[in-house]
Amino acid sequence: MRPLAFQLLRELSHQRFTSGVVLAQKFGVSRAAVSEALHDAGESGVEIFSLTRRGYRLAAPIELLDIDVLRDALGVTAKRLNLEVVETIASTNTELMSRAADGAPSGTCIAAEMQTAGRGRRGRVWQSAFASSLTFSLLWRFDRGAAHLGGLSLVVGLAVVRALHELGVSREVALKWPNDVLAGHRKLAGVLIESQGDMLGPTAVVIGVGINVRLPTALKESIDQPATDIDTIAGAEISRNTLLAAVLRQLVTALDEFQRDGFARFKAEWIRLHALHDKPVRVLHADGSVVETTVCGVADDGALLVRQHGRELALASGEISLRAVGSEKRTNAK
Ligand code: ATP
Repeated sequence: MRPLAFQLLRELSHQRFTSGVVLAQKFGVSRAAVSEALHDAGESGVEIFSLTRRGYRLAAPIELLDIDVLRDALGVTAKRLNLEVVETIASTNTELMSRAADGAPSGTCIAAEMQTAGRGRRGRVWQSAFASSLTFSLLWRFDRGAAHLGGLSLVVGLAVVRALHELGVSREVALKWPNDVLAGHRKLAGVLIESQGDMLGPTAVVIGVGINVRLPTALKESIDQPATDIDTIAGAEISRNTLLAAVLRQLVTALDEFQRDGFARFKAEWIRLHALHDKPVRVLHADGSVVETTVCGVADDGALLVRQHGRELALASGEISLRAVGSEKRTNAK
C-alpha cells in the first residue's frame, strides 16, 4: 500500500464522509491519486464506502499503531526496547535478520502495519491484513549458542498467552507444540524464530510474532488451516496498541527468565496449556512420512515427548509438524 493511502486512512472517519476534493487539497495531490490510493487500501482489505459528491468513509474505525501510546503502555519495558513502527514491509523478520548481521542491538523491535511477504516456518507464508493483525519481530542477543536455546519458541508462545490472559482473553486459548497459539483449536497466532551465530555462542535471535486481531473473513477463509482472531474469541475489540505493549512486556519478562533458568522453569505451565497433551497426534516428517503417536509431555530442552510402543521418545522441532488426529485440512508436511 502506498504512503498516500496511509495518510488518507489516518484522515478518514468512520462516522462522516470526507470529500475527495478536500483530501486532494490537504495532501497536495489530484483527486485521481486519492481515488487510486483508496482503491489500493480497499484491495488490502480495508472496507471504505464511497459516494458520489459526498466522498469517502471508513466502514469501521481503524486503530493504527502509535509509538507514543506504545511507549506509555510499555512502562519501564520501553527502556529495554528500541521500538520502531513501519507502515509496509516485506517481512519484519527478514529486515531484523539483516540488521542483526549489521550489529543492531538486542531489543531492536520492528512492528509493521502491513507485511507483504510474511513468513512461517520452512518457507511457509504468514498471511496478515492491514491494521487487522499484529506483526512484529524482536531481536534478542544471547551469550549462549543455539544448541542451548531449545524451548525458546515454546516460551515465546507462552508469553503471548500470558499477555492475552492479562487482557482478559483466555477463552479456549491454548498452545500447540512447538510454536502456535490456538483458540478453540483454530490458529490465533504464530511464531517464527530465526538465529545467527555458531553453536557455542553468542547468538542473535530474531523472534517474529503474528497475531490475528480482526481478520477480514475472506482472508481467514483463504488460510489453509482453521484460523481465528482476537475479536472472535474476546467478543469485543481489543486495542492493537494495548495488545502489542502487553505482548512485548510479557516477552521481555519471559526472555529474562529463559536466559536465567532455561525452559525447565516454564515446563509445567506450558504443558498445562498444551492443546495436544495426552492426545493422539500425527507427526508429519519433512520427507512426507506420517507417524501416529500420543503426546506425553515436553522435555527440559523443549523437545516433544511422545509415547510409542510403550517407550518415551523425544522429538526435536526442526523438521516435524504436529496435527491432532481428526483435525481437518492439510495432511502432509509442506
Ligand atoms: P507447524 O506445526 O510445523 O508449526 P504450521 O502449519 O503451524 O506448522 P507455521 O510455519 O507455524 O506452520 O505457520 C505457517 C502456516 O500457518 C501457513 O502455512 C498457514 O497454514 C497458516 N497461516 C498463515 N497465515 C495465518 C494466519 N494469519 N492465521 C492462522 N494461520 C495462518
